[in-house]
Amino acid sequence: MSVSFAIPDKTGRAFRSANVNKAPPFHERLCNDKLPPVNKILSPAFDLSLKEIKADLSIKPGSNSDAQIEKILNQVERIARPKALYRVAYIEKRGHETVMIDQTEFHSRALYANLETVGRVFPYIATCGTEVDGIPIEREDAVQRHWFNTIRLALLRASIQHLRKTIQDQYQLETHSAMNPGSGEAGVWPIEQQRALFSLLGGQQWIENTMGVHLLDSYLMTHEMTVSGILFPSKTTYYNCQLCRRDDCPGRQAHFDVALWENLQGK
Ligand code: SF4
Repeated sequence: MSVSFAIPDKTGRAFRSANVNKAPPFHERLCNDKLPPVNKILSPAFDLSLKEIKADLSIKPGSNSDAQIEKILNQVERIARPKALYRVAYIEKRGHETVMIDQTEFHSRALYANLETVGRVFPYIATCGTEVDGIPIEREDAVQRHWFNTIRLALLRASIQHLRKTIQDQYQLETHSAMNPGSGEAGVWPIEQQRALFSLLGGQQWIENTMGVHLLDSYLMTHEMTVSGILFPSKTTYYNCQLCRRDDCPGRQAHFDVALWENLQGK
């Protein structure tokens, strides 16, 4: 189910939907809100596969659920607007387990180690967008809520993939990795540093106005289908999961790396 595709605007700073009939209010807001000059906002294409989503949700062809999910997906393709925000930033100083990025200090031994030989990084936020929340589903129905979350996760993944590909292509990165505050074992990159990350990306209010992403006092984000982090060039791919012992996680991408963990602990 192909919905739209994204193309750069004339300045190359922002992307807009190629399908003008689907231009969302978000794009209008972009013109009104002051865009920090270094920030770039992407409005990623998404291509939700009806077949894959039905398979993920174990929906039988011809069933009532089959008709319902198709109706929901048709609405999603009309109104969903996943988004991604990023900027280019430079490492100015390194201290004891700290890294100063464009006048913003981050504390994390793992971040320090990952950025030890790096000069340029790409702080980012990617979200499935708040627009999709306007789809009328039965909120009391646990099954429909599960469908809805699966669809929103697919939109978030589309947003992250588009962001990573855009940065990789535009800045000619051979390999890259990402770290996210609060991911991995406690203290790997403390979630409290979301505040510094938001500051680096234009501030909480600006991000809320343009992306619809709100930073809570708990440092979690709403809309909850949102990811924030720093992307960086790397010789090999680093995964947060390498520094995470949670073994019942369905999202695990790599094994816990004992040697890396011990190395970071100075053992
Ligand atoms: S194992 Fe799961 S919780 Fe731990 S970092 Fe990976 S995805 Fe996150």
